[in-house]
Amino acid sequence: MVKPSPISPTVDFDRNGVQHGFLRLPYSRDDSAWGSVMIPVCVVRNGQGPAALLTGGNHGDEYEGPLALYDLARTLDPKDVSGTVIIVPAMNYPAFRAGTRTSPIDKGNMNRAFPGRPDGTVTEKITDYFQRELLPRADIVFDFHSGGRTLDFVPFCAAHILPDKGQEGKAFAAVEAFSAPFSVKMLEIDAVGMYDTAAEEMGKVFVTTELGGGGTSRAETVRIARRGIMNVLRHEGIVKGSVDKHSTRWLDMPSGDCFAFAEEDGMIETMVDLGEAVEAGAVIARIHSTGRTGQAPQEIRAKMSGLLAARHFPGLVKAGDCVSVVAVE
Ligand code: CA
Repeated sequence: MVKPSPISPTVDFDRNGVQHGFLRLPYSRDDSAWGSVMIPVCVVRNGQGPAALLTGGNHGDEYEGPLALYDLARTLDPKDVSGTVIIVPAMNYPAFRAGTRTSPIDKGNMNRAFPGRPDGTVTEKITDYFQRELLPRADIVFDFHSGGRTLDFVPFCAAHILPDKGQEGKAFAAVEAFSAPFSVKMLEIDAVGMYDTAAEEMGKVFVTTELGGGGTSRAETVRIARRGIMNVLRHEGIVKGSVDKHSTRWLDMPSGDCFAFAEEDGMIETMVDLGEAVEAGAVIARIHSTGRTGQAPQEIRAKMSGLLAARHFPGLVKAGDCVSVVAVE
């Protein structure tokens, strides 16, 4: 028998109007014997209609999503809504509070912890609640990401190539409506345990972003996030009004050759900036060893022609780090 989730919501997902509350997860610890993790949630509902589940802070060091979603929760008027909007601006709330990618409680990476367990770690209990309680309520699932502390991206909205072409078509239409400067048909290097995969396997329309990175946000990327999420809600007919369309450039990630990884530690020198064109064979980055002078840098070369869509952000790099992602226009 499957155990019930330990999480109790303080909101009623079927009630009309605006509710601000919490997903309360009991978490007994040294500083709070009968304490809880209080994950903020907002429900805006106005009668029958499609339901959107909007999330940020899946990784705790990415800020465009939380900035856009706390704002949306504060401002969305139910009279402009037909259906339901469920907003969880900081999904991995312990990680978000710590400003880290993974949870400081159990080191859980929320986007590798689906479908979760009701009797697992704190992170697994949260993913289990999304898997069994929130995802089934949604027609469209929108999950904001950015690069976090260690990656930086050209701002893009994305969906995955899927076996069900109907489901895929709806997702790419929502990506187009989002109107980020770039739109990506995305390939995952590590899809097991992802929220994306959980939603798609349930037949949901799943859309995501990578809007910047470096463990912060920029004025431009936050504007893109705010405009984009309203556009998607309008496109889905959940919020009144027409889509504020901006031109977007479509990018493809045709194979694992998009990615380059460091094979040694060192100091990284970017030879190409984000959004710049690269030719196959060109040097994208150099890794300088720092233990002694007189060493030639290791060169990282593009395996395909395209544009630089993502790069390692910190100045130091370790063997195994993703150095760059090249995407094809
Ligand atoms: Ca992320």
